Amino acid sequence: MDKVLGSMQVPCSNARYGCTVKTSYHQKQEHEATCPHDEPCFCPVSCCGFSGGPAAATHLRHFLTDHGWPSTEFSYGASFDVAVRDEDEMRVLIGDDGHLFLLTVALKPSSCVVDFSVVCVRPRDVEPKFRCIMAFGSWKNSNYYARSEFQVTSTAFFGGMPPECVMFSVPKLCLDKDSSIHVTMHNTLA
Ligand SMILES: [Zn+2]
Ligand SMILES: [Zn+2]
Repeated sequence: MDKVLGSMQVPCSNARYGCTVKTSYHQKQEHEATCPHDEPCFCPVSCCGFSGGPAAATHLRHFLTDHGWPSTEFSYGASFDVAVRDEDEMRVLIGDDGHLFLLTVALKPSSCVVDFSVVCVRPRDVEPKFRCIMAFGSWKNSNYYARSEFQVTSTAFFGGMPPECVMFSVPKLCLDKDSSIHVTMHNTLA
């Protein structure tokens, strides 16, 4: 059986993106890891123009080096804090399995709430697989507690940030310079 698989030539999964390479079954994965024809994954910044190949490392480098976005490494199932500063923020979340996420903090001047969203940066395989829990509590001016649990959207940012991905909001009145939200990510397939 192994011999048969070994001699069979299979097309690369990126054939629909122009790759003509055929490999043995065993070398398929190895080729696809570096295939230049992978579905491109873009940058959510609309004027940026960046597009990268399959490797999360390319995006990570772009986000951290070219945009200077802060990052947080996390383990699935363990809660971590993200400080809320008084400005918009894109934060790169790096899972302990190498998956990349973008956490967006948006303080629209006209709005009385701060909006949070998390998306998974994934050029392919957009099957939903991650859940996120966000929670915030403040006992300074009022007793305020909010919690949201949601499925994380996967996106390649084709056309920018996916719309309507805001999943958590906190009143600006409840925030001060020391505020942070608690975030927990879960890999539902693991
Ligand atoms: Zn290929
Ligand atoms: Zn960019």
